[in-house]
Amino acid sequence: MEQHMYHNTFIHFSAEEHPLPRSKSAPSLSMPSCGEELVKLKAETHLSNFLERVAQNFRWTARPPPRVPGSFAHPEACSRPCVHYRFGNCTKGSSCEFCHLEHPRPKMKLDKMQRQCYDKLNEPQVLSLLLPYLKHRADQQAIGADIAPIIELIEGRLQEASPLQQLGWRKAELLDRSLRRMNTSRLMELLVGHPKVDTNLADQLSLVFGRARSVIQMRSSVQELLG
Ligand SMILES: [Zn+2]
Ligand SMILES: [Zn+2]
Repeated sequence: MEQHMYHNTFIHFSAEEHPLPRSKSAPSLSMPSCGEELVKLKAETHLSNFLERVAQNFRWTARPPPRVPGSFAHPEACSRPCVHYRFGNCTKGSSCEFCHLEHPRPKMKLDKMQRQCYDKLNEPQVLSLLLPYLKHRADQQAIGADIAPIIELIEGRLQEASPLQQLGWRKAELLDRSLRRMNTSRLMELLVGHPKVDTNLADQLSLVFGRARSVIQMRSSVQELLG
């Protein structure tokens, strides 16, 4: 069930990177159903086809690379780059959930020491650690309004949490080296993939982020067309 939910969302993380079992606490907030996920996936395919048609109508001379769902909201909020596409053998075609567009910087990830430090945090620490980075990226990339529901969810959750155990400055500094280079997608991936972050909260955040991505994509396509 959990695997399935994640398969259909934008955020993918491999099992090896997150070997710990996810906590199953707190009863459900309003859980998105699998049906809703399916509708979302269909909507993405529609959007993808629509953009293709619009591109054809405008007769771009140099055709841009086909937009796959994974490339939506590139470069700030798209999925991880598709490794198969890079080597010319992506078999998913126009339905690939990984990004097919160029990423100038290799995927930023935590190194071993950072990962060990990060995995030991509890949920409120994870949320309060990542929140300022998400806000900063949103400001910098002018996607504040799109990301607002995510910020709201995180802040609401933090308000319910028992008094926060502050993260030592050494740990914060260690993690900062990588976190400040990450785009919104990478930050969200870290957040929802943390073993202590409640599964229902993670699912909700993934769903809301998926919606934000569609809106960001739609807006940037329109801007592209208007020149
Ligand atoms: Zn991308
Ligand atoms: Zn691909």
